[in-house]
Amino acid sequence: RPPAGACLNEPALFSLHLAPRRQNSHKGSFGDVAVIGGAKGMAGAPLLAARGALFCGAGRVFVAAIDPLTAVDFAQPEIMMRDAQEFDSGDGTLVIGPGMGDSVIAMRVLFKALEGTAPLVIDADALNLIAASPDLQGRLAQRAAPAILTPHPLEAARLLGVTSSVVQGDRLAAARELASRLNAVVVLKGSGSVIANASGAVVINPTGNAGLATAGSGDVLAGICGSLLAQGWEAWEAALGAVWVHGAAADRLVAHGSGPIGLTAGELPLAARAVLNAL
Ligand code: AMP
Ligand code: MG
Repeated sequence: RPPAGACLNEPALFSLHLAPRRQNSHKGSFGDVAVIGGAKGMAGAPLLAARGALFCGAGRVFVAAIDPLTAVDFAQPEIMMRDAQEFDSGDGTLVIGPGMGDSVIAMRVLFKALEGTAPLVIDADALNLIAASPDLQGRLAQRAAPAILTPHPLEAARLLGVTSSVVQGDRLAAARELASRLNAVVVLKGSGSVIANASGAVVINPTGNAGLATAGSGDVLAGICGSLLAQGWEAWEAALGAVWVHGAAADRLVAHGSGPIGLTAGELPLAARAVLNAL
């Protein structure tokens, strides 16, 4: 049972955006997602996010890589590869942070993303760079465009300037505080992910299992958030829907014997597609 003031996540909370595709739709109807990340040796993270975005229905998906030489996904040729330093996303949705590192180039690209008006999903290294910069925190809080932040407890602790045991001691309060300070929808990840917004609403997610405790699963979640944003979902419903679908994808894999032991993040996008279509 959720504590007072919170409720459990369920499809009814985001079903207003669940509509069958129109017969005459085209890829332009489903938006663009660009995943910015992938420093040297970290190409997998943005590719996993990009697959999450692709398999949950975004029209076009790009990886804008910090180290473009490492980012070629031969297994997923639908994903277009770009150089983060030259890439202009236009108004497409940005997922920024997976495997991005903390180089000067990463910092410059993050600054540009925060200055722009694109909807943002901010994860991983981008959260750490923001945690280290009061200037970037101020810029994020001042933005008018939607933003979803997806910290795990340690990333949330860095953003709040506390230890992760403080965050874990009151996960609802930590998620609420971050959402109001940074003017964003916040997904505080971990078993029972907490989704909070700047108005103080807070929802606890019941789907998912310990199979998700594996490298790359958070990257896939960020990509799913971006996918739903790009398809026109409001940030609140996109976060609720993405977290629910991501967890349910893991539950589906476990039900079919593919986990929890040895479940891999790369299996999540296809399972998420099945969950989303069933909804
Ligand atoms: P990250 O820490 O960025 O790799 O993200 C891990 C993802 O897996 C997040 O979506 C977490 O909520 C999820 N996750 C990790 N461990 C568990 C668990 N024991 N139960 C449910 N979800 C989990
Ligand atoms: Mg992560």
